[in-house]
Amino acid sequence: MTAAEKAAVEHLPCRPEWRCQSCGDEWPCLEARIGLVVQSLTYRTAVLVYLALCLADAAADFAELGIVSDLYDRFLGWVGTGSNERISHDDAG
Ligand SMILES: [Zn+2]
Repeated sequence: MTAAEKAAVEHLPCRPEWRCQSCGDEWPCLEARIGLVVQSLTYRTAVLVYLALCLADAAADFAELGIVSDLYDRFLGWVGTGSNERISHDDAG
């Protein structure tokens, strides 16, 4: 098992607080992010969908708990979109 795979297994979110089960930091913690970045090299779309679903779940959990947080930056903002994946409105029509 690679270090990234190990991080993906060990550094999972604990709901509804969305803290790492392993290190206790806000999820995705540094180790989880490293694992997700490595996985995204092969499964980029799957990782982005996973993080978007986590964001949606966290939004629901936080709303119930009355927690206000910038969830986009926490769950997706650090990933980046990659300049070659941008969709231009000029190209769309
Ligand atoms: Zn962790």
